[in-house]
Amino acid sequence: MGAKERTLSIIKPDATRRDLTGKINAKFEDAGLHIVAQKRLHLTEEQAGKFYEVHKERPFFKDLVDFMISGPVVVQVLEGEDAVALNRKVMGATNPANADPGTIRKEYAESIEANSVHGSDSLDNAKKEIAFFFSETEIVG
Ligand code: ADP
Ligand code: MG
Repeated sequence: MGAKERTLSIIKPDATRRDLTGKINAKFEDAGLHIVAQKRLHLTEEQAGKFYEVHKERPFFKDLVDFMISGPVVVQVLEGEDAVALNRKVMGATNPANADPGTIRKEYAESIEANSVHGSDSLDNAKKEIAFFFSETEIVG
């Protein structure tokens, strides 16, 4: 049995625009990831830039920030056994062309940028990213 973890998920603007929130949430729940916090936000440029600060030297940074503020997002905390790695598996590879069948990105992503979901890549980053959007009292497991 893996350890119970929490990870941060974001349903990105390409997915909210196509009303895929419910279908994406079903993928999480079917995989055993419990949605223990969720809110719909329109990120500011400052918030998106700060959230993706680790990528600020990457050539796609400006486009990524513009994309992330192009419409509403749904930020969520997912809880379950090995939630960080399990969520990455349910999401699929960054580039939908490389994503496994049945994954969210394979089924729903439009491109390597507009790839429908964000998920924390380590337990340490998950803790930081959850704290970026949620207070402890907003997370109900
Ligand atoms: P992941 O979201 O799978 O953890 P990264 O952390 O490497 O991927 O990148 C963050 C986000 O930046 C990606 O989800 C995607 O939206 C965007 N991105 C990554 N690589 C590229 C690229 N080569 N061109 C455009 N956008 C990209
Ligand atoms: Mg990442």
